[in-house]
Amino acid sequence: MLTDKIALVTGAGRGIGAEIARTLADKGATVILNYNGSKDRAQALADEIAKKGQKAAIYQCNVSDFEACGEMMKAIVKEYGRLDILVNNAGITRDNLIMKMKEEDFDAVLNINLKGTFNTIRHISRQMLKQRSGKIINISSVSGILGNAGQANYAASKAGVIGLTKTMARELASRGITCNAVAPGFVDTEMTKVLSHSVKEAACAQIPLGRFGQAKDIAAMVAFLADEGGDYITGQVISVDGGMNI
Ligand code: NAP
Repeated sequence: MLTDKIALVTGAGRGIGAEIARTLADKGATVILNYNGSKDRAQALADEIAKKGQKAAIYQCNVSDFEACGEMMKAIVKEYGRLDILVNNAGITRDNLIMKMKEEDFDAVLNINLKGTFNTIRHISRQMLKQRSGKIINISSVSGILGNAGQANYAASKAGVIGLTKTMARELASRGITCNAVAPGFVDTEMTKVLSHSVKEAACAQIPLGRFGQAKDIAAMVAFLADEGGDYITGQVISVDGGMNI
């Protein structure tokens, strides 16, 4: 159980992040729901969690903004005195073939997916070192492991997240802090809703389990790592992808 643990989930207003937040709250954690644009949905989720007698708060912050991430971490430590679990889930896609990819689309994806993950860790690592504990869980992707045509920016950002994860695991391990990545395959969310029927069919053909994942499949792994099951696991990339990465 995660009773008395303080958790921050970035991009928690919807999709995988919302399900991660719900699952951590169900396990007893107090959950801070970070959002960027989805205030109403983050508030609705906080209300849903509170109705169950669990604790949640919302916090607006664009994770690509270094200073704003610093303010968010300061505010959390001021309010709760600590942060036990950091889940870097916020992410975007701006797919295109490399020949057509705009520089701004490359930069936007790298800034949110990779630099956003750096920003939050950078601003909480000192606090976690002081605590001599902490669980950092970064959401990567099968694209970061295998590559994916049309996703040069996204795959590079998610591969970067893996390098960052392994380095954080090495840097922070001596103080009992773990850092792992979860690499989902295709998951049913707004991110994949935009894919055409034929692209979805082609994707399914590459999934040994023959179906897209659900947000709860990813949330279950994050919750496992955040709880004591993950205490002796660090620097790992755990695929939750229906076997795509076999
Ligand atoms: P989604 O439904 O599109 O949700 C994206 C989330 O990221 C939203 O909560 C959004 O917040 C947040 N976000 C985007 N830009 C942000 C920013 N600058 N600052 C803070 N939050 C920001 O996507 P999803 O499918 O749940 O994806 C969640 C994570 O899983 C992402 O890292 C994604 O790359 C990864 N993933 C997804 C799949 C998949 O198939 N769905 C597969 C592999 C990996 P607002 O709405 O508040 O702006």
